[in-house]
Amino acid sequence: MNASAGAGRPMAGLSAVVIGAGMAGVLMGIRLKDAGVGSLVILEKGGSVGGTWRENTYPGLHCDFPSHLYRYSFDPNPEWSHHFSPGAEIRQYFENAARKFGVFDRIRFDSEVAEARWNGAGWEVKLVDGRVFAADVLISATGFLHVPRYPDIPGLKDFARPCFHTARWDHAVPLDGRRVGLVGTGSTATQVVCALANRAARLCVFQRTPQWVMRLDNPAYSEADKAAFRKDPALMEARFREMEQQMVYLADGAIQGRNAEARAWLERNVQDNLASVRDPVLRQKLTPDYQVGCKRLVMSPSFYESIQHPACELVTAKIERIVAEGVRTNDGGLHALDVLVLATGFDPQAYFCPVKLFGEQGRSIDEVWANGPRAYRSMTVPYMPNFFMIEGPFSPVGNVSAILIAEWQSEYIVNCIAAGAARKVALVPDAQKTEAMMQAYKAATRDTIWFTGGCRSWYLDQDGVPILYPHPAQQFEQEMRRAPDLAEYRAIAL
Ligand code: NAP
Repeated sequence: MNASAGAGRPMAGLSAVVIGAGMAGVLMGIRLKDAGVGSLVILEKGGSVGGTWRENTYPGLHCDFPSHLYRYSFDPNPEWSHHFSPGAEIRQYFENAARKFGVFDRIRFDSEVAEARWNGAGWEVKLVDGRVFAADVLISATGFLHVPRYPDIPGLKDFARPCFHTARWDHAVPLDGRRVGLVGTGSTATQVVCALANRAARLCVFQRTPQWVMRLDNPAYSEADKAAFRKDPALMEARFREMEQQMVYLADGAIQGRNAEARAWLERNVQDNLASVRDPVLRQKLTPDYQVGCKRLVMSPSFYESIQHPACELVTAKIERIVAEGVRTNDGGLHALDVLVLATGFDPQAYFCPVKLFGEQGRSIDEVWANGPRAYRSMTVPYMPNFFMIEGPFSPVGNVSAILIAEWQSEYIVNCIAAGAARKVALVPDAQKTEAMMQAYKAATRDTIWFTGGCRSWYLDQDGVPILYPHPAQQFEQEMRRAPDLAEYRAIAL
């Protein structure tokens, strides 16, 4: 099957290196291969396909986007086990797709990129182990939530028992019948709570800020459902379209309040869900003081049920310090623990870091991004010719499916590469135009709930400005689906 709209383009003379073999890297590889790129290498630091779905293996891991939406548009999958499928199943799906669409053998595993340097005509990509790859175009598909953020809590290293981040889960550590501490109440932590409430002897959940939690049930697909999907793929397509509309209703209509009815529905959903907490004191502790949607919405079939389990304790006193035997809070409490889990999120502005880029005249990415990450149309970076990134700054991430964003962006990127190849030029965005676009986005984000909703979240940069696409996701899709306007870029003759 041909997965790309860009098939048959004049790219046979080009070589491409993609960094990362997660969802976006596999997709980019498939698109480039279908577009006829001459040479393709996908460099992957890990030992298997899957990116975030390989790195995250915590108990309860599943995707909170529906499975029939969270898939490549060209590879519907009748076998999904659940409406929201578990992480291991999703990782396997991407590996299967890499094999099925002929890019698995282009992946170099255990190949961590250290730096990439533009030499005036192409990129020299150096790996941590000293190997070097040359490429006409370089594409970063590293994802952006991949560098764990460890909390700056005093004494973190003093804990005498196992302590790990959710993205570095230590499966050798027993949890059944143990006293487990969990720092955080974001999307990750809520999934862990649902998985461990029944297993731990005691589960202390340390909450700094309550979250609004939307209730979403997660039924399994029956064998009859799967047989029907196998027999008639149009059923899956219909589901995809229906869920895409629901996503737009939620992300643009309800969260951003562009549709008053959708907004009212969301507010009712989270309030009704919260009302299911029986103990008024616990309910009060779980009640946010900011608007729903300000932080990335947490979606769960059973978080409130799990947090009411007799083994669970929601600790809202501030963590004072971590000591050898557990967590000390500022109300004088000492929470003795056998295991401490940090569900404290990721550095959302790491993008392809720690890879170092050196562009025109040896300019480093640190110089170019001295005032924060910047990218033209979220995908190209000043002074970095023929460099593209997926899910860069101001992409419409959050409550829009990362696969849809990657599909729109990879289509645009392939079209840009093909247009440059046809003219024998490398493309690079102008620094002033990029800055103007950034400032326009920044100004527009001040009207979004991420800025006005009264919370702090990982969406915000160091100046407190959300670095998310401020307009409806469908507008972004339309921008990506147009033929790239090469007048927007500086062309470097090759
Ligand atoms: P997160 O949303 O950034 O949540 C981190 C949690 O740790 C927050 O509750 C935060 O509290 C708390 N925290 C951080 N530092 C702390 C400190 N020093 N002391 C006490 N608490 C501290 O991270 P995440 O839950 O890993 O989720 C990140 C993103 O990954 C999500 O928003 C989502 O986009 C994605 N994700 C997606 C799925 C999926 O199913 N699609 C699943 C998991 C994650 P504050 O709120 O006070 O900052």
